[in-house]
Amino acid sequence: MQVSTVANGGGIKPVQGGSCRSCGRGDFVEILDLGNLPIAHRFLSKPDEKEELFPLALHFCRDCGLTQILNAIDPEILYRDYNHNFSSWKPEPHLTSEIDMIFSHGTPRAALEVGCNDGKFMAELMKVGVSSGVGIEPNPIPAGIAQGRGLTVYQEMLSPRLCDGIVESHGQFDLVVARQVLEHLLDVEAFFKCVDRVLSPDGMLFIDVPDFEPGFRQGDCSVIWEEHVSYFTRSVLDNLLCRYEFTSVASENFNFSGGCLSLLARRSSVKEKVGATSESTQDLSELAGTFSGRIANYQNALEGALSRARKNGISVVLYGTGCRANMLVNGLSLGHLIDYSVDDQKERQGMFLPGSRLPIHSSEKLQAEEGQVLCLLAVNNENEQKVSSKCAEMLGDRVTCISLHAPKDICQELKKIENIILAA
Ligand SMILES: [Zn+2]
Repeated sequence: MQVSTVANGGGIKPVQGGSCRSCGRGDFVEILDLGNLPIAHRFLSKPDEKEELFPLALHFCRDCGLTQILNAIDPEILYRDYNHNFSSWKPEPHLTSEIDMIFSHGTPRAALEVGCNDGKFMAELMKVGVSSGVGIEPNPIPAGIAQGRGLTVYQEMLSPRLCDGIVESHGQFDLVVARQVLEHLLDVEAFFKCVDRVLSPDGMLFIDVPDFEPGFRQGDCSVIWEEHVSYFTRSVLDNLLCRYEFTSVASENFNFSGGCLSLLARRSSVKEKVGATSESTQDLSELAGTFSGRIANYQNALEGALSRARKNGISVVLYGTGCRANMLVNGLSLGHLIDYSVDDQKERQGMFLPGSRLPIHSSEKLQAEEGQVLCLLAVNNENEQKVSSKCAEMLGDRVTCISLHAPKDICQELKKIENIILAA
């Protein structure tokens, strides 16, 4: 199947209507239109399986600098039959640093985690001093795992009614945690109203979100994912907290999953003005104006390099089939230039990628390759070394691995393809 290429190559379109998820205003421009794409986590069991497509475009708020998806897919459709991506499946090397960040600013005893997933983070908090750990997790499978870890879990969506009920049973909390949650929420204001109900007056709020900035700077469209309706940078997140009368007391960036912004905040006493055209909003605005053009340039360069590699008899293999891989392959229409994909996760082997319909094999298929192989690493930067070493063990100097994801310099990586073509 052919999906559309970067349709809006270079320009930005003004948009009417809608209000910004962060500042509530509505001065938007459309900065990227990826056309109609399948849902990135919906793998196919047959190569000819019918699939639904949804438009995916990004909009930029000129008031506060938040990039967002205005026409988000209905969560009822998006999260239907969604039973994967639990936190235990992914190593989180920054988890200990996040816990240190919290405990170096206080000693919380009662903690509530919104979107607690399988309870891994809360279980760690409970090892270091939290005595009462409560979680909210609507998905029954991770909620069950979290309960098995000793957490009290409310298996519901976050709502004011639920928060009132929780406070009635447990009192207010001196720590509220929301990790990798905010970027999924259609109603950010409702989230902060709920936090206000459950957090004690001097309590701490810990948030982590994907950092959009490395991908935004690189022109890397794989940082876009239909499940993420908001794309935060440090300054945008600070402004958002300020709007809801919080001040950050500690913050850190981690190289996890393309970049992670972690932030610890307390209630602030003075409501500061937000939305003014600050230097940072200006900087983001410049990036927004050139984002689709930079993606199109990368797309052309990658497409050209992959075509030349194949003409020279080099096999092109995609290693990793996560959401970032699918967004890149479908968003840039690369499927026809890749031979097949490889994934170490057994559940995915034998299936087909959404959109591109590339088959997913185990690494044994790669090991059986007899000629030169170009391996496109569609794994997060922190796992690349492990995967590259594995490929080298199997194929020696017949394999070249290149990184497809920011924060790596993805344009620089393309030079490696030219080198193997010269050597072929
Ligand atoms: Zn805004």
